[in-house]
Amino acid sequence: MKHHPIVDQIISGTAEAHIQLSVEQLIEKALFNNEGQLTDTGAFAADTGEFTGRSPKDKFVVMDENTKDSVWWGDVNNKMENAKFDKLLNDVLHHFKNRELFIRHSYACANPTYRLNIEVVTETAYQNIFANNLFLRPTTAELESENPEWLILAAPSFKANPAEDGTRQHNFTIINFTKKIILIGGSGYTGEIKKGIFTVLNYTLPHQNNVLSMHCSANIGENNDTAIFFGLSGTGKTTLSADPSRKLIGDDEHGWAENTVFNFEGGCYAKCVDLTEEKEPQIWNAIKPGALVENVRFYPGTNKVDFNNISVTENTRVAYPIDYIDNIAEPSVGKAPENIFFLTADAFGVLPPISKLTPGQAMYHFISGYTAKVAGTEAGVTEPQATFSACFGKAFLPLHPAKYAEMLGEKLNANPNINVWLINTGWSGGSYGVGSRMKLSYTRAMITAALEGKLNDVNFETHPVFGLAMPDSCPNVPSELLNPRNTWSNAADYDAKANHLAELFNNNFKQYADGCSDEILSSAPKSAATSQ
Ligand code: ATP
Ligand code: MN
Repeated sequence: MKHHPIVDQIISGTAEAHIQLSVEQLIEKALFNNEGQLTDTGAFAADTGEFTGRSPKDKFVVMDENTKDSVWWGDVNNKMENAKFDKLLNDVLHHFKNRELFIRHSYACANPTYRLNIEVVTETAYQNIFANNLFLRPTTAELESENPEWLILAAPSFKANPAEDGTRQHNFTIINFTKKIILIGGSGYTGEIKKGIFTVLNYTLPHQNNVLSMHCSANIGENNDTAIFFGLSGTGKTTLSADPSRKLIGDDEHGWAENTVFNFEGGCYAKCVDLTEEKEPQIWNAIKPGALVENVRFYPGTNKVDFNNISVTENTRVAYPIDYIDNIAEPSVGKAPENIFFLTADAFGVLPPISKLTPGQAMYHFISGYTAKVAGTEAGVTEPQATFSACFGKAFLPLHPAKYAEMLGEKLNANPNINVWLINTGWSGGSYGVGSRMKLSYTRAMITAALEGKLNDVNFETHPVFGLAMPDSCPNVPSELLNPRNTWSNAADYDAKANHLAELFNNNFKQYADGCSDEILSSAPKSAATSQ
């Protein structure tokens, strides 16, 4: 096995380098080191420590000759000087000396043309289980022959000194595109590892390979048709792509090359909050030996996970290899998509549960990347918070969003038969606090109907503010749910909220309007305020 030169150095400096351990061996180590415990179904449950989610403000990109003119600098991609990176790298390597470390070869991209070999060094065993489960797993022969290209060093117990190191606080994730290193310190949250490589691919694929990288899930139907589902966190990418009647390609990160869609990863990272066997059987059944469950709590006196307990974080997760799902595409590759879904969890309860987008609307909503978060309950505030995240993944984009939007636009123009749908997996019957979240079974039925062509011959009504085409009937869904205005007890309240949301869309879009065609601009919602 050939190591990255830095890993050779690390191995020679420590007495306890565990290389390419099996998951069973990693669990033994993790148990011995008190990183967590086994659940009743045989999964390993770990706590990730101080951080139970990513820390976007502590993400940096090294600015150098290669990146200075290409990276979209700003609060998504904070600048880090090369010299500061070198110093932190040295400090982390020093920190690794004489420590027990876990080293593993993995790769990203299920399409061999774009394969990216990765070597991961982690301080804890559970992080190494994560790397095994989420990335693609090389065969024994590949382990012998392949060279690692990118290096990930993950040191949760290392703390930076912000005054000296140029970080914001003690934790950081730094991407160095020239040295091909992701340096993670101060955080044990595994999502930093996963989304670090996603950020790398969001740079290299569009910039160097003319491949569109996407924050979406993907699956394949019985007729070999591919569907992709874009959406921000919590909108349903993982949940809705796990569909027993369709083969899963992947739940989060994909590339769209000329004629194929391929998964970057080899596993899924599913939310566990309120998980039930009845609603999400595929995810439920994946919580078995080898799966890594994060930040959950047990029913008192047992090792049975209480999925309703979010006392550590609402962001409880399970990481499992993709083949823990019954019906998967092997390899994780499909044809170019025939259907594209934009998922949004609209907590204002304004957007229709399903609507069909024109090409202009598709671009408008892709650039907007809207969802809404429900406010914390502490202060009794129930007003939802709108989030606009370009391309449904702004936090992971090292290039300007226009780059990805242009690429999607070209693909949609070249393939006019692709259907684009907007799905509101969020609220109906009122905003958060009054209405309720759309039933998962109804959302699934709407997506199935769209995929099976059952909405081809129904009538569509146009939304007065958003201009969206709303079907007036859909198999297995009560018709009165399809026009959101009908679900509110007071239509005037609905109209006011729809106008409010339209204004939020329009205000957000101003920053992107300059580079957009009339077709896209005329797809903006028409709030009462702007139409007068
Ligand atoms: P991330 O990018 O963070 O992985 P995601 O887009 O994959 O997020 P999911 O993990 O699928 O999001 O989360 C959707 C959550 O919302 C799940 O917990 C699911 O049970 C819940 N949910 C409730 N109602 C619906 C619905 N109508 N459609 C989809 N999900 C729903
Ligand atoms: Mn997901």
